[in-house]
Amino acid sequence: MNDHDSERIRGVLEEQGWRQTEGTDEADLLVINTCAVRGSAESRLLGRLGEARRLKSERPGRLVALGGCFAQARKQELFRELPFLDVAFGPGNIAELPALLEAASAGPAYCFEDSPLPSARLPVRRAESYRAWVQVMTGCTNFCSYCIVPRVRGPERSRSAGEIVEEVRRLVDDGVVEITVLGQNVNAYGLDRDDGRGKGAVFAGLLAQLDAIKGLERIRFTTSHPRDLGPDLMEAIRDLPAVCEHLHLPAQSGSTRILERMKRRYTREQYLGLVDRLREEVEGLALTTDLIIGFPGEREEDFHRTMTLVERCRFDGAFTFVFSPRPGTEAADLPGRVPKGTVRRRMGELVGLVQQIAREQNQEMVGNEIEVLVEGKSRQGGRQLRGRSRTNKIVNFQVRRDQPPPGAFVKVKIVSATSTTLKGELA
Ligand code: SAM
Ligand code: SF4
Repeated sequence: MNDHDSERIRGVLEEQGWRQTEGTDEADLLVINTCAVRGSAESRLLGRLGEARRLKSERPGRLVALGGCFAQARKQELFRELPFLDVAFGPGNIAELPALLEAASAGPAYCFEDSPLPSARLPVRRAESYRAWVQVMTGCTNFCSYCIVPRVRGPERSRSAGEIVEEVRRLVDDGVVEITVLGQNVNAYGLDRDDGRGKGAVFAGLLAQLDAIKGLERIRFTTSHPRDLGPDLMEAIRDLPAVCEHLHLPAQSGSTRILERMKRRYTREQYLGLVDRLREEVEGLALTTDLIIGFPGEREEDFHRTMTLVERCRFDGAFTFVFSPRPGTEAADLPGRVPKGTVRRRMGELVGLVQQIAREQNQEMVGNEIEVLVEGKSRQGGRQLRGRSRTNKIVNFQVRRDQPPPGAFVKVKIVSATSTTLKGELA
């Protein structure tokens, strides 16, 4: 979501005549787009701010702007803490950036209000010509006890299906073959618009409309909340040709006791039931997840349940996070902090298991011929290209003479696999 916001920030600024420089030294304007989901993002920000302070003191005429969720969480306080700052804006106020930059000549300028313009209408400067993000909703209304997102991005609000379809048509006309539909909880898409057709029906319906767009080959979406995943969405993944066979379904924990404390509103059994149904419905589905370790009150048996959940679900990958107390969230004040050493040990065990299963899942692909969307040169260099399978796996593959361009579809025969990548040859 932040990457997509950055594309919008670039789009808005370029429309005003700004151009991206090679390095920060030459820049007349520095824009830092921030994240506040975990404390680690904030620590990385400190380094950036140090650089911005130095650059500003070298040339006081240059402007420094801070946007995103960290800015939204701190609001005007920022100007006291960071006196070199000229502009601050929340994630919903990208449209206001040009006006804020203009106002900055008269002193600190900021905006932390909801933009009246749906931000998805803003100009976007896409990084790739063949692939795009499409934000279908803003905010989140779930208030998981550990999460700052609802506090900084506001409540769920969905764009109209007509507007989204229009945007995707334009993208496809522009050469896009793959889109990733974005929302904090995409399964809840449209429920705030009171369509009245029941949970998930609205999102599955949107996917069907997008699937009907000629020339759109792949549709991905993220993130799905297990509580709102209904049979119609499973059918959409199974039946709609462009919808890819990959689902990112954050479990967060395998212990019902912890899930309750997290306010996730599903149990371990419900999550496992969903995964069983998904596996039955969608052949070859790749499943990935998010897991949090060290949530307040997490006992050894809770951790063990997370490990057995991973074994049962056989995830193709998982983002694993150490619990980070976020100011203003419920979990920040919960008793039962897990000692650092215990967290480190549990994280090590979890990552080991996740990698082992991911490797086994990937090795099952060896010998298969799969469709790959070419992204460009592989990091390995030489005549190796890199692309992605429909199941969202990175595929490195060898080419001989003609190199297919980024955005091309090729068939690749998989010859080996690690926990994170598949390796193959052009079939
Ligand atoms: N909306 C998505 C969902 O509900 O799954 C995810 C949004 S969140 C920005 C991405 C992931 O960050 C979450 O799934 C969770 O695992 C992790 N996360 C959020 N808050 C966290 C915290 N305070 N400490 C550690 N991890 C956190
Ligand atoms: Fe955060 Fe929960 Fe909303 Fe995801 S669903 S953004 S974890 S509050």
